[in-house]
Amino acid sequence: MSSYLRRLPVYLVLDVSESMAGPAIDAVNRGVRTLVDSLKGNPQALETAYLSVITFARKAEQVVPLTELMRFAPPPLSVRSGSALGAAMRLLRDCIRREVTQTTATTKGDYKPLVFLLTDGQPTDDWEAAARELKMANPRVANVYAIGCGPDVDPDSLREVSDIVLMMNDLSPEGFKKFFVWLSASVQTASVKMERATGPIEMPPLPAGVRVPDEREEFDPTPRQVFLHARCQTTKKPFLMRFGRRPWDGRYEAIASHPLDVLESDAGDFLPPINTSMLDGCPPCPHCENPAAGACPCGTLFCNAVNPKGPVVCPTCRAQLTAGGGGSFDIRRSMG
Ligand SMILES: [Zn+2]
Ligand SMILES: [Zn+2]
Repeated sequence: MSSYLRRLPVYLVLDVSESMAGPAIDAVNRGVRTLVDSLKGNPQALETAYLSVITFARKAEQVVPLTELMRFAPPPLSVRSGSALGAAMRLLRDCIRREVTQTTATTKGDYKPLVFLLTDGQPTDDWEAAARELKMANPRVANVYAIGCGPDVDPDSLREVSDIVLMMNDLSPEGFKKFFVWLSASVQTASVKMERATGPIEMPPLPAGVRVPDEREEFDPTPRQVFLHARCQTTKKPFLMRFGRRPWDGRYEAIASHPLDVLESDAGDFLPPINTSMLDGCPPCPHCENPAAGACPCGTLFCNAVNPKGPVVCPTCRAQLTAGGGGSFDIRRSMG
């Protein structure tokens, strides 16, 4: 036997789709920092745990390769369009193949990686095959915890990824904080027990607000939220409008808007457009606080004053627009 120091690889696979915009992505950013700080305070974790971060929106990207804790710098996370779970699963598999030392007949390799997958919406790519491949691999390549955040996650789709499915209902900053404290405790438990473990390791009790979903639970596929891309007429900066479904009449009412770093064109967008007659209210512009919105024939949705005094100019195509005659129209939805 060689004296190879066995590592515990930990992969965080994080959904950074636009539906995470606002407090959720801030809470995840803070959560990753909390996780690293608390692991650094644990001698066993410090010695064995290695951390990697993979993010996915339209594309999946390994933003931090597998790195020892002391040298791990939490990456800044920002939201993007799309939710390519399949691409994330394939990238995860490739990273594990490349970075994790396999056990052979003569050498003990690394411990089985721990994977924490966090997602908050329906995948937008072709993901089933990649998920099944990861789940069915024999011997199993990793212990995967699939964690659905919020009401738009179908537990059945997460069961395709892993046997261990958790649902997190409390998406407040406090809820995410408790979750990352649990995650840190889980890594510490694993770093101690892996040495002697023969089967699955018993993890610490789940925090309040996280539960194991019931197999028989019915999932309603009607989206709870609608996301629209818009551009600020004053600053030209992009933002995301968020509407939530009212259970009693199925209409969507304005919840909030969030600044975006970039506005990606949703090429290949498969969501049907939504008619403005289904929307109630308008979230104020996060850049200039304009309380209303207008639409240009070029397809741009933009923030607007309620009764604009000067000319209205489309922030994308620069067309001068006259006040429309009202009436409802279709708007392209973002993939969220
Ligand atoms: Zn604005
Ligand atoms: Zn325009």
